[in-house]
Amino acid sequence: MHPLFDQRRYLIPFRSILLPQIFTDTLVIGGGAAGLSAAIAASAHGDVIVLAKGKLGLSNTAWAQGGIAVPLDHANDSPEAHVRDTLVAGAGLCDEPVVRFTVERAESAIRRVMAWGFRPDLDAQKHIDLGREGGHSFRRIIHSDGDATGRALADALLERTRQCDTVRLFENCFAIDLLTPSNAPGSPVMGAITHHPKHGLQMIWARATILASGGAGALWRESTNPPVATADGLALAYRAGATLADLAFMQFHPTTLYVAGAARTLISEAVRGEGAYLLDEHLHRFMPEQHELAELAPRDVVSLAIARKLAEQSLSHVWLDCRHLRDFPARFPGISANLRRFDLDPARDLIPVNPAAHYMVGGVRTDWTGRTDVPGLYAVGEAASTGLHGANRLASNSLLEALVFGHAAGEACVEMRSESNAWGTPARQGPVQVISDIPISPSGELDLADVRSSLRSVMWRNVGVERSGPKLDDVLEMFNFWARYTLDKIFDDLTGWEAQNMLLAGALVTRSAAWRSESRGCHTRSDHPASRDDFAVHDLWRRSADTPRTLPLAQPAVA
Ligand SMILES: Cc1cc2nc3c(=O)[nH]c(=O)nc-3n(C[C@H](O)[C@H](O)[C@H](O)COP(=O)(O)OP(=O)(O)OC[C@H]3O[C@@H](n4cnc5c(N)ncnc54)[C@H](O)[C@@H]3O)c2cc1C
Repeated sequence: MHPLFDQRRYLIPFRSILLPQIFTDTLVIGGGAAGLSAAIAASAHGDVIVLAKGKLGLSNTAWAQGGIAVPLDHANDSPEAHVRDTLVAGAGLCDEPVVRFTVERAESAIRRVMAWGFRPDLDAQKHIDLGREGGHSFRRIIHSDGDATGRALADALLERTRQCDTVRLFENCFAIDLLTPSNAPGSPVMGAITHHPKHGLQMIWARATILASGGAGALWRESTNPPVATADGLALAYRAGATLADLAFMQFHPTTLYVAGAARTLISEAVRGEGAYLLDEHLHRFMPEQHELAELAPRDVVSLAIARKLAEQSLSHVWLDCRHLRDFPARFPGISANLRRFDLDPARDLIPVNPAAHYMVGGVRTDWTGRTDVPGLYAVGEAASTGLHGANRLASNSLLEALVFGHAAGEACVEMRSESNAWGTPARQGPVQVISDIPISPSGELDLADVRSSLRSVMWRNVGVERSGPKLDDVLEMFNFWARYTLDKIFDDLTGWEAQNMLLAGALVTRSAAWRSESRGCHTRSDHPASRDDFAVHDLWRRSADTPRTLPLAQPAVA
């Protein structure tokens, strides 16, 4: 990667003591399921500030449809079966102890949010209705308001957060960078420099900082994520010296509604769970010949089958056939409403679908309580890489992870109030003098919209569902070129900072994908179609290192 990717410590020049100062015990960057869970837990032992760069309702959490995986059917299902399914989906890269940790806490996590007002849909016997999704051996998907699970969960968490009088919620407040007293490796994170359209730049000093900034879907042209998912958290953490892991693994969702010119919207896996078929242009149902689970095969298998079908038949989409499903509008009211906007009736019409970037499996490497390797910094939710998902996330395990790890990090971060915390670094609360000097760039004006759209197109074409070494190398070259006239600039609003973060995160993802010379989980290389034992490791990347450190998988405890 071009040295510019590693040179900048901060995106903007500033003198910390000249800016307005705000103090808190815990700063949470992100107001989705992970951030709000962390904030609620942390509020029990101090004051908390939660940042959201847009409105609080705009997050991957609020857009989630399918549900939350919890092995609640005690007569048939079990935590052990859930662990097994997660390990199978993770394709040999899950840290099994982390999988057990998460699944064992699933039921208590869901009971906790139910106590805060989250209302799962019930079946005719008034029991929690459990749906089925790909890769799950049993019906274990808790859903709410049909396909509006994420919205229902976000509302319940937000309502509970608003009741915590030690929590302040800052909407439209963009975290530009994490603050460290020096640029030396191991320097602790002490909060963030932020920008709010009305209040301008502010220093928020915190004893503990929890990064809960969500996903990276907006790096790809075809994406199910809201536009806020620009991978800021990955870029912030990287610049602050934290270790990032397994970034090659972006999960592509097989079925987003493909209507040219309209934003892509997800057609939940639960629709295939209820029995919908995938058809090619000859109306041939092609999944049974690809996998024994047909349309309910793991997402990487279905996405790859569709991507290859599109290439083979030069198509823009395949069809989802729901015409034989009963009660579609009742079970999927949100999807039905969206289809109506395009005059599509699932009882009558075939639905055009194609794959899209959906879930960032990799992220900031953490332990079981969300601790990163930088003192004072925790990461949770989609921004984090805990080892739960391995090389591919099992459907509906991510909201679960956000609830479990958000809570764990919110509880753990009280340690930063004492001298003896997990890093053994005395906890300090600012202010300290931080000086960022950046020379004015001599290069000319930039069309940021063009940079963003070129980046997203190239990520989709060459770092998409199927990749190859030479194409990944081409993308890295392109990123190096763009970096020369984009990363040297100083911007004064979110559009520019996001573009710089997207460029850095895109380069990091591509570098990890180029390094991983194998196919595994949701990372498919046409030039290395098989998995390789020597790649059954996590790849860990830190600022200023050209090659990754590799980490063997955590092994299950011996009984
Ligand atoms: C369409 C869709 C459907 C899904 N369906 C499911 C499902 O059924 N089940 C499931 O388990 N998972 C599902 N997922 C995945 C799941 O929703 C996410 O992984 C999960 O919600 C992530 O939660 P989070 O709290 O980590 O991040 P998010 O909910 O994305 O929240 C991120 C927050 O960070 C803030 N933020 C980001 N950058 C900054 C910055 N620089 N400064 C300040 N704030 C910032 C944002 O404003 C936002 O508040 C789905 C995702 C999508 C997109």
